[in-house]
Amino acid sequence: MPESRTYGRRRSLPAKADNVPAAVTPAGGPPAVVTGRVVAKGGEPTAMAGWDDVDKVASAAGGDMYLKVTENRTVIKMLADGPFDVYASHWIEEIEEGSKSVRCWGTPECPLCAIGDKAKRFSACFDAVSLEDPDYPVMKVWEAGIKIARQLKDIATDSKRGPLDRADLYFTIRKETKKKSVEYTLERVKERDLDEEYGVTPLSDEALAAFVAQRHEYGDKVKETLDTEAMEEIVGLLMEDD
Ligand SMILES: [Zn+2]
Repeated sequence: MPESRTYGRRRSLPAKADNVPAAVTPAGGPPAVVTGRVVAKGGEPTAMAGWDDVDKVASAAGGDMYLKVTENRTVIKMLADGPFDVYASHWIEEIEEGSKSVRCWGTPECPLCAIGDKAKRFSACFDAVSLEDPDYPVMKVWEAGIKIARQLKDIATDSKRGPLDRADLYFTIRKETKKKSVEYTLERVKERDLDEEYGVTPLSDEALAAFVAQRHEYGDKVKETLDTEAMEEIVGLLMEDD
């Protein structure tokens, strides 16, 4: 039963290797598929598999695919040494239904850039495992802004501190809401300090490998690019306004 790649599918694995029967791959076998799905022997979904759709639909509806950064430090494990997708987006207040944030085409042909609207928000998307609940690590898309993206780049390109997905390297991220802005604080954590400092058990090699097998490829998009027709509709909205 091949799994098609679905963005936003909630993927998770228990932290300890002995708890991951569904994800363990026999030596030499195909890469493990990591999902929250409960699978019966022989690969047939059980009645429990219906719950998978709950997660899938909730995610598709804008649910929990993104890492939620809070005031509390969240321990994360990066799954690659760089973002799989980087883009800017326009913010169109006039859009009443659907997302007001519209992905810039990133070329001079972008219809919104062409009418002088500036794409102000920068996003770099990374695959990361959230260890917010240490017993229930979950794969997330971490959408970082320009400041954090630059810090990550500095670490990634520093042979002493990087790469981001170095085996013994974890990070914590938290946000602080100030009067008019939100500030994010990124810290590196060595695997050996995880337990003592954060009460978090490092991911087993098996669990980590299974998450890595599920990561996005460079160039995958989590935020769709609207086609000319959809863009023209938005341009129309803006023009109406004037
Ligand atoms: Zn644009």
